[in-house]
Amino acid sequence: MRYELMRPAQIQDAIQKGLSLLMPVGVIEYHGPQNPVGTDALISQGIVHRVEEKVDCVVAPTIFYGYTGEWAAGIEKGEVHVDGTALYSFVKPILKAFYNQGWKRIYIICHHQGPQGVTMLSYQRAATEVAMEYGLEHSGTGWHSDTKLYPFIFQRMHIVSDSQFSSQGYGGHGGRDETAAAMCLYPGTVDLEELDTEDPVWAVDAHEATTELGEQIAETIVDGWIAELGK
Ligand SMILES: [Zn+2]
Repeated sequence: MRYELMRPAQIQDAIQKGLSLLMPVGVIEYHGPQNPVGTDALISQGIVHRVEEKVDCVVAPTIFYGYTGEWAAGIEKGEVHVDGTALYSFVKPILKAFYNQGWKRIYIICHHQGPQGVTMLSYQRAATEVAMEYGLEHSGTGWHSDTKLYPFIFQRMHIVSDSQFSSQGYGGHGGRDETAAAMCLYPGTVDLEELDTEDPVWAVDAHEATTELGEQIAETIVDGWIAELGK
């Protein structure tokens, strides 16, 4: 189920049933001339939408904007950088609303730069603060002694990568794997011929990308999610 398409009673019902809420996030970043600029968020979103077809869960709307540092390129190549403070300020109320609604498990699923990247750190800071504030609001100061809350309140929201629960993921930046991911998850968005116009060093193996490779990795990642959500 897609959160934005659900009625309030359906949302309440999903929470009561203990379904997980999955929110894909990423960035708008240059991924080579052959790939769409939304590649990172599209990978998270494409994987999560496949998971949703196989497991009873709810998918929150994707957040496409995040911190890029203009590492790959600037605005002339379509990139949109949001600094960490602005990102944190924007996402915290969103995470707080979902958390306080009572979802048993919330996963913020990011395909960009890894856990030390500013994007994931911004979500992690917001998530930790949301849980800490929940403890304080519900049990007052010294809330660590409330055994109904602590440490369980930290286990309700997880900031993870798309491939967190699988042996394989889409590695690199704009190279073979991510290009294969875009080919398989969003057919028609990749044009390998564009590689002739420009050839960033990190995209040297991009011409090896195939839909089949993208599918094989997607299957591994989705299987990992099925196992995780089944716990
Ligand atoms: Zn990427």
